[in-house]
Amino acid sequence: MRAAKLKKEERALETKWFTLRTPENEESIAQAADILRRGGLLAIPTETVYGLGANGLDENAVLHIFEAKGRPQDNPLILHIPDASWLTCYCEDVPEAAYRLAERFWPGPLTMILKKKPCVPLRTTGGLETVGMRCPDHAVTRAIIEKAGVPIAAPSANTSGRPSCTTAEHVREDMWGKIDGIVDGGACEVGVESTIIDLTVTPPQLLRPGGLPLESLQDALGEVTVDKAVTQKMGEGEKPRAPGMKYRHYAPKAPVTVVTGGAKASARYLLTHASEDAGVICFDEFVPLFAGHIVHPLGASDDKRAQAQHVFDALRTFDETNVGEIWAQCPDSKGLGLAIGNRLKKAAGFHTEASDDGKTVVGITGGTGAGKTSLLHALEREGACILDCDKIYHEMLESDESLRKALRAAFGGTIFRADGSVDVHALGLIVFQDAEKLASLDAIVRAHVPRECARRMAESNAKLIGLDAIKLIECGLGAICDATVAVTAPEEVRVRRIMARDGITEDYARSRVAAQQSAEYFRARCDREFVNDLPTAAEAAAAAEDFIHTIIKNFKEETKHE
Ligand code: AMP
Ligand code: MG
Repeated sequence: MRAAKLKKEERALETKWFTLRTPENEESIAQAADILRRGGLLAIPTETVYGLGANGLDENAVLHIFEAKGRPQDNPLILHIPDASWLTCYCEDVPEAAYRLAERFWPGPLTMILKKKPCVPLRTTGGLETVGMRCPDHAVTRAIIEKAGVPIAAPSANTSGRPSCTTAEHVREDMWGKIDGIVDGGACEVGVESTIIDLTVTPPQLLRPGGLPLESLQDALGEVTVDKAVTQKMGEGEKPRAPGMKYRHYAPKAPVTVVTGGAKASARYLLTHASEDAGVICFDEFVPLFAGHIVHPLGASDDKRAQAQHVFDALRTFDETNVGEIWAQCPDSKGLGLAIGNRLKKAAGFHTEASDDGKTVVGITGGTGAGKTSLLHALEREGACILDCDKIYHEMLESDESLRKALRAAFGGTIFRADGSVDVHALGLIVFQDAEKLASLDAIVRAHVPRECARRMAESNAKLIGLDAIKLIECGLGAICDATVAVTAPEEVRVRRIMARDGITEDYARSRVAAQQSAEYFRARCDREFVNDLPTAAEAAAAAEDFIHTIIKNFKEETKHE
């Protein structure tokens, strides 16, 4: 194609803002359509991400898209149409499969690559004889295109190299003054771009995973191959079939590492490997675990729709912070996971690390005297490595410089003895009279202890880990356990036990039990309960052994089914 010179000086346009959430607003739709018909640039909402639209048949208008985005001109644009009947206007030899897909998935997040007709300028297709066609599932946008009466070329409305825009506000950040209008249709429902399938080859080939799962395409078409660029970095000189795939898209300023593997294993991995100034993109249930970091939740680990909606927002937000690196959890490749993982990996330049450690972690929690020890001993007899979080905390007080620094900053030097050790009594005196200071100590502990627990898990050769923590749930560690067990016993039993164990008076034993959370509290927050009201140690040990065997048997069955 002719090499077009991009104008050096930026065109300063007066950008108009349209708030158009329903297709009923005829007048605004007519105004928006008019901008497009007259060769202007208009950001439009779609179900996937915001598009930067222009008349796809008007070379000059299309050139302005490339200018506004700073997009390389060999990166083709997708033509948006209001329904499949428009296909024959712009595409040659439309195969039956295209109509089959349109019937099933349009309007929707699917782009089909077809042979272009001469009326589609090479400027639009990046010099290719093929063209990407899509019908967006957004009533306002379809109404605008219908009214404009021309196919709308629309790449994502971000500056080239930045994450795609999923809100009109994102578009404003990137495009204000460079385009004629922004149609605000609210937040995008899908959040990742369309799936691109090339129908000009046999079998059809997936060029970009997106809002429509690969499995749906396979269901409709039978065999579908996947372009190498979807899962790995392109080598020098290698050319992916979707030209856009060769560009390092969606790159935040800080370098990104993507951690693959099961959600719990990857959370554990991230916790041990992310440096203190790292930003973290994690599944919702792990947010409390990363208390010491700037965190952007991706969505619950079992909710890929939510993850797709949040992935670009997550990549975008860190640019306003000064994180030194970004670590991200990654879903598996099933369904929308292929697209979500692909966007994260592209942001990381395909820098990924695998986390599956084959470990099983059992978290044991419950109040004083409830009898956690019976279960911990049973785990130990199964070869488990037992990590006592309270003990780890006390060891860290002496050896962990980062924790000690945080304590010094919050409570001053008076909590340190002359030999550098922490005077826990002095610390206790400060925090037990002041709720705010206690909360601050809690926050410091939560930001440091889980990391050390995860480090010790990784360091241990044991495949089974028992985590002993009265604040298992509060410190976020519950989320990385494969099972959490609440150990409970009637209050009377607990009082007798701690009187005997610690040689204390009944009144004192009662006040200690009363100061802790109830059995109900632990029960409600754990997967299982072990009621330890057995009269003798031997009976408790036997019951604990049975209980642990059942848990281990369940794990084995679960892994068999995976
Ligand atoms: P964007 O709209 O910015 O998400 O980019 C559109 C994507 O569609 C780019 O990755 C393009 O490379 C791809 N694309 C558009 N048209 C074609 C085509 N004719 N052949 C292959 N890929 C295409
Ligand atoms: Mg894009």
